[in-house]
Amino acid sequence: MPIKKKLPSSTRPRAVTREKCETVCMPDLASLEIIVKQLLENLGENPQRHGLQDTPRRVAKSLAFLTKGYQQDIDELLNGALFPIDYDEMVIVRDIDFFSLCEHHLLPFFGKCHVGYIPSKHVVGLSKIPRVVDAFSRRLQVQERLTVQIAHTLHTKLKPHGVGVVMEARHLCMSMRGVEKQNTVAVTSEMLGVFRTQQQTRDEFLKLIRQRGSDAN
Ligand code: ZN
Repeated sequence: MPIKKKLPSSTRPRAVTREKCETVCMPDLASLEIIVKQLLENLGENPQRHGLQDTPRRVAKSLAFLTKGYQQDIDELLNGALFPIDYDEMVIVRDIDFFSLCEHHLLPFFGKCHVGYIPSKHVVGLSKIPRVVDAFSRRLQVQERLTVQIAHTLHTKLKPHGVGVVMEARHLCMSMRGVEKQNTVAVTSEMLGVFRTQQQTRDEFLKLIRQRGSDAN
């Protein structure tokens, strides 16, 4: 969770709930630096040694970047990017690279996200879909929730006939520790509207996103 920025008292929220925090909080880099320095000491390291002197600053900046999705407003992101159109065939954006941090271990999980939807009244600028994926990925996440958030956001904003999202990811908390399964890929999906109710639509989507393997070879 991002650290609350010290706002002037007049603008400081009275009670910061998690939801509110996602819009009003900026990471406090100076505090993060202190925490990372403490972390290094607790790990038995010497934060003053040559290689580590700048590490707290770097880690603080890096964590702020990796969780910048908390500051991104989805409405703002999609504003002006919806276009009325008479097109009701499936639109697919596949192989969207994403990087996230698992909220249980703060270790990366990363992979590919595939999004499909069937427009009803509007299409969204194609470049906006990876940006929606990015906005939700750059937070502390679990893959299941991330998948659902992307699908439900597109479903709510575009009001399409249906949305399908499939995410395939490797989790460093699985491959570096614990079970140490190096090549395990976790797959999650969320199907809404006709992607849920019509098997034919779902099958078409899954077939189209799987074609990438043969295209690449
Ligand atoms: Zn984990």
